[in-house]
Amino acid sequence: MVMRLPRPVFCSLQMVTDVIAQRQRGGNAAFFNGIAAEWRQRVQDYDTHGGSPQHVAAWPAIQPRRNTFLNLYLSPATDSVQAPVLQDMRRRHGLNYCPACGEPGKPNTLDHYLPKTIYPHFCITPLNLFPMCDACQELKDTKIGDAANPRFFLHPYFDVFVANQVLELVIAAPYDTPTFRLGTHPGLTGPQTALVTCHVRELHIEQRFTGYFTGQYVRLLRQARLLRDSNQDVRAVLTGFRDAIAPVEVNVWDHIFYSATVANADLMDYLADGPLPAFR
Ligand SMILES: [Zn+2]
Repeated sequence: MVMRLPRPVFCSLQMVTDVIAQRQRGGNAAFFNGIAAEWRQRVQDYDTHGGSPQHVAAWPAIQPRRNTFLNLYLSPATDSVQAPVLQDMRRRHGLNYCPACGEPGKPNTLDHYLPKTIYPHFCITPLNLFPMCDACQELKDTKIGDAANPRFFLHPYFDVFVANQVLELVIAAPYDTPTFRLGTHPGLTGPQTALVTCHVRELHIEQRFTGYFTGQYVRLLRQARLLRDSNQDVRAVLTGFRDAIAPVEVNVWDHIFYSATVANADLMDYLADGPLPAFR
């Protein structure tokens, strides 16, 4: 599931200053000099309000020059200020999970939290960019929010509460063929619950990861059988699995799965002493 990311090492305000400085000899110098102060202010506002579309307005006056901004992102010259920054953010993030959905693997695209077509002036703003998997990016597309929920998506740099577990899995009997129900964590506030609910719904997270839970559960039954056969304490070992993952990231699917297992006393009784199905 989601993970909190540290802020980019690249300064978003400095990026504006450097890009404008690099354009002083080109045909767009007058345009960029004319908007420089307001562009910087808007990037500052983004930082202040955590990229929230409720507080970070679009900039209608620059829409006629939208492509001038988009070209900074889509076709940066190799010696441009932004090219190495974008390359670094796209390739050298060191992530092994998609920060939006938790899918294992190196996320290989950069998402614009506020879409670049609507907010072209944030198309190279590091605070507006983070790695994402292809499936999430396709589903997110240019969505932002709607009247009922102005913000659909968690922001990995600013939604600091995602450092805590945000989803809770319930594994329901019968335990040889259980059902799985994914919900928001009861520790969230009302607004946090609404935001996480939108994020999960819009990225189809429950549908995409049901198969993961099913496969993980089959492995859990095998683990229980092997632990019993080798006279190990099933409860202690499974609790250890959960606790070994927690310091790394509480919202990875492994942790959500083992938390659900360990928290379910009936299931733990079943795994330790119940009639396990034959190996599949
Ligand atoms: Zn994803």
